[in-house]
Amino acid sequence: MDLIPTHGGYRNLKSFQVAQVVYDLTVRFCDRYIEKRSRKESIMIKLLIIALVILSLPMLTLAQKSRQAFAYDYTIDDLPNGLRLVTVPTDYPNLVALYIVVQTGSRNEPEKGKSGYAHLFEHLMFRGSEHYTGQERDEVLKKAGADSNAYTTDDRTVYHEVFSKDDLDRILELEADRFQHLKYSPDGYKTETKAVLGEFNKNSANPEEKLFEVLRATAYQRHTYSHTTMGFIEDIEDMPNQYEYSLQFYSRYYRPEYTTIVLVGDVKRDDALAMTKKYFGAWKRGTYVPEIPGETEQKEPRENHVDWPSETLPLIYVAFRGPAYSDYKKDKAALDLVAPLAFGENSDLYQKLVLQEQKVEELSYSFDDHVDPELFYVSAKVKDLKDVDYVRQQILDTYKRFSNEAVPQAKLDSTRSRLRYEFALSMNSSEAIASSLANYIGLRRTPLTIDKLFALYDTITPNDIRDTAHRYFVDSHRTIVTLNTKKEVAK
Ligand SMILES: [Zn+2]
Repeated sequence: MDLIPTHGGYRNLKSFQVAQVVYDLTVRFCDRYIEKRSRKESIMIKLLIIALVILSLPMLTLAQKSRQAFAYDYTIDDLPNGLRLVTVPTDYPNLVALYIVVQTGSRNEPEKGKSGYAHLFEHLMFRGSEHYTGQERDEVLKKAGADSNAYTTDDRTVYHEVFSKDDLDRILELEADRFQHLKYSPDGYKTETKAVLGEFNKNSANPEEKLFEVLRATAYQRHTYSHTTMGFIEDIEDMPNQYEYSLQFYSRYYRPEYTTIVLVGDVKRDDALAMTKKYFGAWKRGTYVPEIPGETEQKEPRENHVDWPSETLPLIYVAFRGPAYSDYKKDKAALDLVAPLAFGENSDLYQKLVLQEQKVEELSYSFDDHVDPELFYVSAKVKDLKDVDYVRQQILDTYKRFSNEAVPQAKLDSTRSRLRYEFALSMNSSEAIASSLANYIGLRRTPLTIDKLFALYDTITPNDIRDTAHRYFVDSHRTIVTLNTKKEVAK
Protein backbone atom coordinates (compact mmCIF):
# COMPACT_ATOMS: atom_id res chain seq x y z
CA MET A 1 0.00 0.00 0.00
CA ASP A 2 1.63 3.22 -1.17
CA LEU A 3 -0.73 5.92 0.03
CA ILE A 4 2.20 7.71 1.57
CA PRO A 5 5.44 7.96 -0.43
CA THR A 6 8.36 6.30 1.33
CA HIS A 7 11.00 9.01 0.91
CA GLY A 8 9.77 11.42 3.59
CA GLY A 9 11.07 11.51 7.14
CA TYR A 10 7.50 11.22 8.37
CA ARG A 11 8.26 7.93 10.15
CA ASN A 12 10.26 9.94 12.65
CA LEU A 13 7.36 12.25 13.40
CA LYS A 14 5.78 11.67 16.78
CA SER A 15 2.34 12.09 15.21
CA PHE A 16 3.11 9.31 12.73
CA GLN A 17 4.36 7.03 15.46
CA VAL A 18 1.27 7.67 17.56
CA ALA A 19 -0.93 7.08 14.50
CA GLN A 20 0.91 3.81 13.87
CA VAL A 21 0.15 2.63 17.39
CA VAL A 22 -3.52 3.62 17.03
CA TYR A 23 -3.66 1.74 13.75
CA ASP A 24 -2.01 -1.40 15.10
CA LEU A 25 -4.21 -1.49 18.17
CA THR A 26 -7.37 -1.02 16.10
CA VAL A 27 -6.38 -3.78 13.68
CA ARG A 28 -5.67 -6.11 16.59
CA PHE A 29 -8.99 -5.19 18.17
CA CYS A 30 -10.81 -5.89 14.90
CA ASP A 31 -8.98 -9.18 14.40
CA ARG A 32 -9.94 -10.35 17.82
CA TYR A 33 -13.49 -9.12 18.23
CA ILE A 34 -14.97 -8.62 14.79
CA GLU A 35 -16.18 -11.73 13.05
CA LYS A 36 -14.07 -12.93 10.17
CA ARG A 37 -15.77 -11.92 6.96
CA SER A 38 -14.88 -12.15 3.35
CA ARG A 39 -11.45 -10.89 2.36
CA LYS A 40 -13.03 -7.96 0.54
CA GLU A 41 -14.90 -6.74 3.61
CA SER A 42 -11.78 -7.02 5.75
CA ILE A 43 -9.94 -4.75 3.30
CA MET A 44 -12.85 -2.30 3.53
CA ILE A 45 -12.56 -2.26 7.31
CA LYS A 46 -8.82 -1.64 7.11
CA LEU A 47 -9.37 1.24 4.71
CA LEU A 48 -11.94 2.67 7.09
CA ILE A 49 -9.44 2.45 9.93
CA ILE A 50 -6.78 4.19 7.85
CA ALA A 51 -9.26 6.96 7.02
CA LEU A 52 -10.00 7.40 10.72
CA VAL A 53 -6.34 7.54 11.58
CA ILE A 54 -5.66 10.12 8.85
CA LEU A 55 -8.57 12.21 10.10
CA SER A 56 -7.18 12.12 13.60
CA LEU A 57 -3.71 13.28 12.51
CA PRO A 58 -4.42 17.01 12.85
CA MET A 59 -5.59 16.41 16.42
CA LEU A 60 -2.48 14.44 17.19
CA THR A 61 -0.34 17.21 15.73
CA LEU A 62 -2.22 19.68 17.87
CA ALA A 63 -1.60 17.57 20.97
CA GLN A 64 2.04 17.38 20.06
CA LYS A 65 2.16 21.13 19.54
CA SER A 66 0.91 21.80 23.04
CA ARG A 67 4.05 19.96 24.25
CA GLN A 68 6.18 22.42 22.30
CA ALA A 69 7.63 25.06 24.57
CA PHE A 70 7.42 27.74 21.88
CA ALA A 71 3.79 27.37 20.87
CA TYR A 72 3.57 29.98 18.10
CA ASP A 73 3.78 29.43 14.36
CA TYR A 74 6.65 31.30 12.80
CA THR A 75 8.54 31.66 9.53
CA ILE A 76 12.24 32.07 8.89
CA ASP A 77 13.43 33.88 5.76
CA ASP A 78 17.07 34.29 4.84
CA LEU A 79 18.14 37.06 2.48
CA PRO A 80 21.05 36.35 0.11
CA ASN A 81 23.21 38.77 2.13
CA GLY A 82 22.88 36.61 5.26
CA LEU A 83 20.25 38.68 7.07
CA ARG A 84 17.58 36.57 8.73
CA LEU A 85 13.95 37.53 9.30
CA VAL A 86 11.87 35.64 11.88
CA THR A 87 8.17 36.50 11.72
CA VAL A 88 5.80 35.43 14.49
CA PRO A 89 2.18 36.49 13.92
CA THR A 90 0.15 36.54 17.16
CA ASP A 91 -3.47 37.21 18.08
CA TYR A 92 -2.61 40.35 20.01
CA PRO A 93 -4.11 43.07 17.79
CA ASN A 94 -2.58 46.26 16.32
CA LEU A 95 0.85 46.20 17.90
CA VAL A 96 4.13 44.95 16.49
CA ALA A 97 7.27 44.21 18.51
CA LEU A 98 10.48 44.62 16.51
CA TYR A 99 13.65 43.13 18.00
CA ILE A 100 16.84 43.43 15.99
CA VAL A 101 19.37 40.98 17.40
CA VAL A 102 23.06 41.48 16.56
CA GLN A 103 25.15 38.44 17.52
CA THR A 104 27.86 40.64 18.93
CA GLY A 105 28.42 41.25 22.61
CA SER A 106 31.41 41.75 24.86
CA ARG A 107 32.43 38.20 23.89
CA ASN A 108 33.35 39.61 20.46
CA GLU A 109 36.09 41.82 21.91
CA PRO A 110 39.23 39.65 21.87
CA GLU A 111 41.71 42.42 21.01
CA LYS A 112 43.82 43.64 23.88
CA GLY A 113 42.81 47.12 25.04
CA LYS A 114 39.54 47.02 23.13
CA SER A 115 36.90 45.75 25.56
CA GLY A 116 33.54 47.49 25.97
CA TYR A 117 32.88 48.39 22.33
CA ALA A 118 29.77 46.28 21.81
CA HIS A 119 28.17 48.20 24.67
CA LEU A 120 29.52 51.53 23.41
CA PHE A 121 27.74 50.84 20.12
CA GLU A 122 24.49 50.33 21.90
CA HIS A 123 24.86 54.04 22.73
CA LEU A 124 26.30 55.22 19.39
CA MET A 125 23.42 53.67 17.45
CA PHE A 126 21.14 56.37 18.85
CA ARG A 127 23.27 59.27 17.56
CA GLY A 128 21.85 59.46 14.07
CA SER A 129 22.51 58.11 10.60
CA GLU A 130 22.97 59.36 7.06
CA HIS A 131 19.32 60.28 6.47
CA TYR A 132 18.19 60.98 10.02
CA THR A 133 19.83 62.90 12.84
CA GLY A 134 19.30 61.47 16.31
CA GLN A 135 16.65 64.13 16.88
CA GLU A 136 14.76 63.40 13.64
CA ARG A 137 14.82 59.75 14.53
CA ASP A 138 13.34 60.47 17.97
CA GLU A 139 10.59 62.55 16.37
CA VAL A 140 9.55 59.79 13.97
CA LEU A 141 9.46 57.29 16.82
CA LYS A 142 7.60 59.68 19.09
CA LYS A 143 4.95 60.26 16.43
CA ALA A 144 4.56 56.50 16.08
CA GLY A 145 4.18 56.24 19.86
CA ALA A 146 7.09 53.83 19.70
CA ASP A 147 8.99 52.80 22.75
CA SER A 148 12.62 52.45 21.55
CA ASN A 149 15.45 50.93 23.57
CA ALA A 150 18.48 48.63 23.46
CA TYR A 151 20.66 46.39 25.63
CA THR A 152 23.98 44.57 25.42
CA THR A 153 25.00 41.22 26.94
CA ASP A 154 28.12 39.09 26.74
CA ASP A 155 26.87 37.52 23.51
CA ARG A 156 24.55 39.97 21.78
CA THR A 157 23.29 43.52 21.31
CA VAL A 158 19.54 43.99 20.89
CA TYR A 159 17.62 47.01 19.59
CA HIS A 160 13.89 46.96 20.18
CA GLU A 161 10.70 48.89 19.62
CA VAL A 162 6.98 48.34 20.01
CA PHE A 163 4.61 50.33 17.80
CA SER A 164 1.37 50.30 15.81
CA LYS A 165 1.36 47.95 12.81
CA ASP A 166 0.74 50.89 10.46
CA ASP A 167 4.20 52.26 11.27
CA LEU A 168 6.11 49.09 10.43
CA ASP A 169 7.28 50.26 7.02
CA ARG A 170 8.46 53.63 8.32
CA ILE A 171 10.30 52.15 11.28
CA LEU A 172 12.02 49.44 9.26
CA GLU A 173 13.25 52.18 6.94
CA LEU A 174 14.56 54.11 9.93
CA GLU A 175 16.27 51.04 11.39
CA ALA A 176 17.79 50.05 8.06
CA ASP A 177 19.38 53.49 7.85
CA ARG A 178 21.23 53.25 11.17
CA PHE A 179 22.26 49.63 10.64
CA GLN A 180 23.78 50.42 7.23
CA HIS A 181 24.64 54.12 7.42
CA LEU A 182 25.32 55.07 11.03
CA LYS A 183 26.92 58.51 11.23
CA TYR A 184 28.48 60.15 14.27
CA SER A 185 31.02 62.94 14.56
CA PRO A 186 34.29 62.64 16.56
CA ASP A 187 32.71 65.06 19.07
CA GLY A 188 29.51 63.06 19.36
CA TYR A 189 31.65 59.98 19.77
CA LYS A 190 33.60 61.52 22.66
CA THR A 191 30.41 62.56 24.42
CA GLU A 192 29.14 58.99 24.26
CA THR A 193 32.40 57.48 25.60
CA LYS A 194 32.07 59.78 28.60
CA ALA A 195 28.52 58.62 29.19
CA VAL A 196 29.80 55.04 29.12
CA LEU A 197 32.56 55.83 31.63
CA GLY A 198 29.93 57.39 33.89
CA GLU A 199 27.85 54.24 33.59
CA PHE A 200 30.85 52.05 34.49
CA ASN A 201 31.59 54.13 37.57
CA LYS A 202 27.99 54.00 38.67
CA ASN A 203 27.95 50.21 38.29
CA SER A 204 31.23 49.78 40.12
CA ALA A 205 29.85 51.73 43.05
CA ASN A 206 27.48 48.81 43.58
CA PRO A 207 29.18 46.08 45.66
CA GLU A 208 27.38 43.26 43.84
CA GLU A 209 28.40 44.54 40.38
CA LYS A 210 31.95 45.07 41.59
CA LEU A 211 32.21 41.55 42.98
CA PHE A 212 30.80 40.12 39.75
CA GLU A 213 33.52 42.02 37.86
CA VAL A 214 36.16 40.47 40.15
CA LEU A 215 34.60 37.00 39.82
CA ARG A 216 34.85 37.20 36.02
CA ALA A 217 38.42 38.48 36.05
CA THR A 218 39.45 35.74 38.51
CA ALA A 219 37.69 32.79 36.90
CA TYR A 220 38.65 33.59 33.29
CA GLN A 221 42.18 34.33 32.17
CA ARG A 222 42.07 34.13 28.37
CA HIS A 223 38.47 34.12 27.25
CA THR A 224 36.64 37.44 26.72
CA TYR A 225 34.19 36.55 29.48
CA SER A 226 37.00 37.72 31.79
CA HIS A 227 35.51 41.19 31.48
CA THR A 228 31.90 42.14 32.02
CA THR A 229 29.81 43.63 29.22
CA MET A 230 30.95 47.10 30.32
CA GLY A 231 34.61 46.24 29.61
CA PHE A 232 37.82 46.83 31.60
CA ILE A 233 38.14 50.29 33.15
CA GLU A 234 41.47 51.05 31.41
CA ASP A 235 39.88 50.27 28.02
CA ILE A 236 36.87 52.47 28.75
CA GLU A 237 39.19 55.31 29.76
CA ASP A 238 41.01 54.93 26.45
CA MET A 239 37.81 54.95 24.36
CA PRO A 240 37.83 58.71 23.61
CA ASN A 241 41.07 58.16 21.62
CA GLN A 242 39.61 55.33 19.54
CA TYR A 243 37.24 57.02 17.07
CA GLU A 244 38.87 55.27 14.10
CA TYR A 245 38.71 51.91 15.85
CA SER A 246 35.02 52.43 16.54
CA LEU A 247 34.36 52.81 12.81
CA GLN A 248 36.19 49.55 12.26
CA PHE A 249 34.14 47.80 14.94
CA TYR A 250 30.93 48.96 13.24
CA SER A 251 32.04 47.77 9.81
CA ARG A 252 33.00 44.36 11.23
CA TYR A 253 29.92 43.50 13.20
CA TYR A 254 27.03 45.61 11.94
CA ARG A 255 26.57 43.24 9.04
CA PRO A 256 23.64 41.16 7.83
CA GLU A 257 25.25 37.82 8.66
CA TYR A 258 25.37 38.85 12.35
CA THR A 259 21.84 40.24 12.37
CA THR A 260 18.38 38.75 12.81
CA ILE A 261 15.19 40.78 12.58
CA VAL A 262 12.45 39.44 14.84
CA LEU A 263 8.90 40.67 14.22
CA VAL A 264 6.17 39.55 16.61
CA GLY A 265 2.53 40.61 16.67
CA ASP A 266 -0.06 41.87 14.22
CA VAL A 267 2.09 41.26 11.17
CA LYS A 268 1.94 39.18 7.99
CA ARG A 269 4.99 37.31 6.80
CA ASP A 270 4.71 38.38 3.15
CA ASP A 271 4.49 42.08 4.05
CA ALA A 272 7.34 41.80 6.53
CA LEU A 273 9.55 40.01 4.02
CA ALA A 274 8.82 42.53 1.25
CA MET A 275 9.71 45.47 3.54
CA THR A 276 12.82 43.72 4.84
CA LYS A 277 14.03 43.07 1.30
CA LYS A 278 13.25 46.66 0.31
CA TYR A 279 15.21 48.29 3.13
CA PHE A 280 17.87 45.72 4.06
CA GLY A 281 18.36 43.95 0.72
CA ALA A 282 21.28 46.12 -0.42
CA TRP A 283 23.16 45.68 2.88
CA LYS A 284 26.58 44.20 2.12
CA ARG A 285 27.70 41.02 3.82
CA GLY A 286 30.91 41.38 5.83
CA THR A 287 33.96 39.16 6.11
CA TYR A 288 35.10 39.48 9.71
CA VAL A 289 35.09 36.49 12.06
CA PRO A 290 36.69 37.09 15.48
CA GLU A 291 39.05 34.61 17.03
CA ILE A 292 37.81 34.16 20.57
CA PRO A 293 40.51 32.51 22.68
CA GLY A 294 39.41 29.36 24.49
CA GLU A 295 39.81 29.37 28.25
CA THR A 296 42.73 27.38 29.65
CA GLU A 297 42.14 24.38 31.90
CA GLN A 298 41.81 25.45 35.52
CA LYS A 299 44.01 23.24 37.69
CA GLU A 300 43.34 24.50 41.20
CA PRO A 301 40.68 26.44 43.10
CA ARG A 302 40.93 30.24 42.98
CA GLU A 303 39.93 32.90 45.48
CA ASN A 304 39.77 36.65 45.51
CA HIS A 305 38.60 39.32 47.92
CA VAL A 306 37.38 42.91 47.73
CA ASP A 307 37.74 45.34 50.63
CA TRP A 308 34.80 47.69 50.33
CA PRO A 309 35.35 51.30 51.43
CA SER A 310 31.87 51.89 52.86
CA GLU A 311 29.26 50.14 54.99
CA THR A 312 27.74 47.11 53.24
CA LEU A 313 26.64 43.55 53.99
CA PRO A 314 29.28 40.86 53.30
CA LEU A 315 28.97 39.02 49.98
CA ILE A 316 30.19 35.62 48.87
CA TYR A 317 30.02 34.13 45.36
CA VAL A 318 30.84 30.45 44.90
CA ALA A 319 31.35 29.54 41.23
CA PHE A 320 32.23 26.47 39.18
CA ARG A 321 32.99 26.33 35.50
CA GLY A 322 29.92 25.22 33.56
CA PRO A 323 29.24 24.34 29.93
CA ALA A 324 28.11 26.54 27.03
CA TYR A 325 24.48 26.66 25.90
CA SER A 326 23.39 23.54 24.06
CA ASP A 327 20.02 22.21 22.91
CA TYR A 328 21.31 18.68 22.41
CA LYS A 329 24.03 17.99 25.01
CA LYS A 330 22.59 17.03 28.37
CA ASP A 331 25.13 18.90 30.55
CA LYS A 332 23.61 22.34 30.23
CA ALA A 333 20.04 21.08 30.66
CA ALA A 334 20.99 19.01 33.72
CA LEU A 335 22.70 21.97 35.41
CA ASP A 336 19.73 24.23 34.54
CA LEU A 337 17.68 21.85 36.67
CA VAL A 338 20.27 21.52 39.45
CA ALA A 339 20.26 25.28 39.98
CA PRO A 340 16.69 25.67 41.29
CA LEU A 341 16.72 22.24 42.97
CA ALA A 342 19.86 22.99 44.98
CA PHE A 343 19.76 26.76 45.41
CA GLY A 344 16.28 28.04 44.46
CA GLU A 345 13.68 29.37 46.88
CA ASN A 346 12.22 25.89 47.38
CA SER A 347 15.59 24.31 48.09
CA ASP A 348 16.65 22.93 51.49
CA LEU A 349 19.56 25.35 51.57
CA TYR A 350 17.37 28.41 51.01
CA GLN A 351 14.90 27.23 53.63
CA LYS A 352 17.72 26.77 56.11
CA LEU A 353 19.92 29.83 55.56
CA VAL A 354 17.31 32.42 54.65
CA LEU A 355 14.14 31.36 56.44
CA GLN A 356 15.05 29.22 59.45
CA GLU A 357 18.46 30.46 60.58
CA GLN A 358 18.05 33.89 58.96
CA LYS A 359 21.80 34.24 58.53
CA VAL A 360 21.50 35.15 54.88
CA GLU A 361 19.61 38.14 53.53
CA GLU A 362 19.62 36.99 49.89
CA LEU A 363 20.55 33.69 48.30
CA SER A 364 20.45 33.26 44.53
CA TYR A 365 22.08 31.43 41.66
CA SER A 366 23.10 32.36 38.14
CA PHE A 367 23.71 30.14 35.16
CA ASP A 368 22.63 32.02 32.05
CA ASP A 369 22.67 30.65 28.52
CA HIS A 370 25.97 31.58 26.87
CA VAL A 371 27.65 30.95 23.53
CA ASP A 372 30.81 29.73 25.30
CA PRO A 373 31.34 27.91 28.64
CA GLU A 374 29.83 29.98 31.42
CA LEU A 375 30.14 30.06 35.21
CA PHE A 376 27.58 28.40 37.43
CA TYR A 377 27.54 30.46 40.61
CA VAL A 378 25.69 30.95 43.84
CA SER A 379 25.67 34.28 45.61
CA ALA A 380 24.83 35.03 49.21
CA LYS A 381 24.42 38.33 51.00
CA VAL A 382 25.28 37.45 54.59
CA LYS A 383 23.86 39.38 57.53
CA ASP A 384 26.89 39.09 59.79
CA LEU A 385 30.59 38.87 58.84
CA LYS A 386 31.18 36.13 61.43
CA ASP A 387 28.82 33.81 59.49
CA VAL A 388 30.56 34.08 56.11
CA ASP A 389 32.68 30.95 56.60
CA TYR A 390 29.67 28.99 57.81
CA VAL A 391 27.60 30.07 54.79
CA ARG A 392 30.46 29.25 52.46
CA GLN A 393 30.67 25.72 53.89
CA GLN A 394 26.90 25.25 53.61
CA ILE A 395 27.01 26.22 49.93
CA LEU A 396 29.97 23.92 49.25
CA ASP A 397 28.25 21.03 51.08
CA THR A 398 25.17 21.53 48.91
CA TYR A 399 27.23 21.38 45.72
CA LYS A 400 28.77 18.14 47.08
CA ARG A 401 25.42 16.68 48.07
CA PHE A 402 24.01 17.07 44.57
CA SER A 403 27.20 15.52 43.16
CA ASN A 404 26.77 12.43 45.34
CA GLU A 405 23.03 11.87 45.79
CA ALA A 406 20.32 11.48 43.18
CA VAL A 407 17.38 13.87 43.61
CA PRO A 408 13.93 12.31 44.16
CA GLN A 409 12.15 11.80 40.83
CA ALA A 410 9.07 13.74 41.98
CA LYS A 411 11.15 16.80 42.86
CA LEU A 412 12.86 16.71 39.49
CA ASP A 413 9.52 16.36 37.70
CA SER A 414 7.93 19.28 39.49
CA THR A 415 10.98 21.47 38.87
CA ARG A 416 10.96 20.85 35.15
CA SER A 417 7.23 21.36 34.84
CA ARG A 418 7.65 24.62 36.70
CA LEU A 419 10.33 25.71 34.19
CA ARG A 420 7.97 24.94 31.31
CA TYR A 421 5.01 26.56 33.01
CA GLU A 422 6.90 29.73 33.89
CA PHE A 423 8.21 30.00 30.34
CA ALA A 424 4.69 29.65 28.89
CA LEU A 425 3.30 32.12 31.43
CA SER A 426 5.89 34.75 30.53
CA MET A 427 4.63 34.87 26.92
CA ASN A 428 1.74 37.20 27.64
CA SER A 429 2.18 39.87 24.95
CA SER A 430 3.86 40.26 21.58
CA GLU A 431 6.63 42.23 23.27
CA ALA A 432 7.17 39.55 25.92
CA ILE A 433 7.34 36.86 23.24
CA ALA A 434 9.87 38.84 21.19
CA SER A 435 11.89 39.69 24.27
CA SER A 436 12.18 36.09 25.35
CA LEU A 437 12.90 34.96 21.78
CA ALA A 438 15.81 37.42 21.55
CA ASN A 439 17.88 35.29 23.95
CA TYR A 440 17.56 32.17 21.77
CA ILE A 441 17.91 34.08 18.49
CA GLY A 442 21.16 35.46 19.88
CA LEU A 443 22.34 31.89 20.49
CA ARG A 444 20.95 29.86 17.56
CA ARG A 445 18.98 32.24 15.30
CA THR A 446 15.85 30.08 15.47
CA PRO A 447 12.93 29.56 17.88
CA LEU A 448 13.28 25.82 17.24
CA THR A 449 16.10 25.68 19.78
CA ILE A 450 13.53 26.40 22.54
CA ASP A 451 11.55 23.25 21.72
CA LYS A 452 14.74 21.23 21.55
CA LEU A 453 15.91 22.57 24.92
CA PHE A 454 12.63 21.79 26.68
CA ALA A 455 12.52 18.34 25.06
CA LEU A 456 16.02 17.83 26.44
CA TYR A 457 14.85 18.79 29.95
CA ASP A 458 12.27 16.00 29.68
CA THR A 459 15.01 13.40 29.14
CA ILE A 460 17.04 14.32 32.24
CA THR A 461 16.98 11.67 34.98
CA PRO A 462 17.98 11.96 38.66
CA ASN A 463 21.18 10.08 37.77
CA ASP A 464 21.97 12.57 34.98
CA ILE A 465 21.65 15.35 37.52
CA ARG A 466 24.01 13.66 39.98
CA ASP A 467 26.55 12.62 37.34
CA THR A 468 26.65 16.06 35.71
CA ALA A 469 27.01 17.80 39.07
CA HIS A 470 29.79 15.34 39.90
CA ARG A 471 31.69 16.22 36.73
CA TYR A 472 31.33 20.00 36.98
CA PHE A 473 31.41 20.78 40.70
CA VAL A 474 35.05 19.80 41.20
CA ASP A 475 37.38 21.75 43.47
CA SER A 476 39.96 22.46 40.78
CA HIS A 477 37.28 24.30 38.72
CA ARG A 478 36.08 26.44 41.57
CA THR A 479 36.36 30.20 42.12
CA ILE A 480 35.24 31.90 45.33
CA VAL A 481 35.15 35.66 45.73
CA THR A 482 34.15 37.64 48.80
CA LEU A 483 33.52 41.26 49.65
CA ASN A 484 33.08 43.08 52.91
CA THR A 485 33.51 46.49 54.46
CA LYS A 486 37.17 47.26 55.01
CA LYS A 487 37.02 48.31 58.65
CA GLU A 488 35.33 45.02 59.55
CA VAL A 489 38.45 43.20 58.41
CA ALA A 490 40.49 45.07 61.02
CA LYS A 491 38.19 43.97 63.84
ZN1 LIG B 1 24.89 51.73 28.52
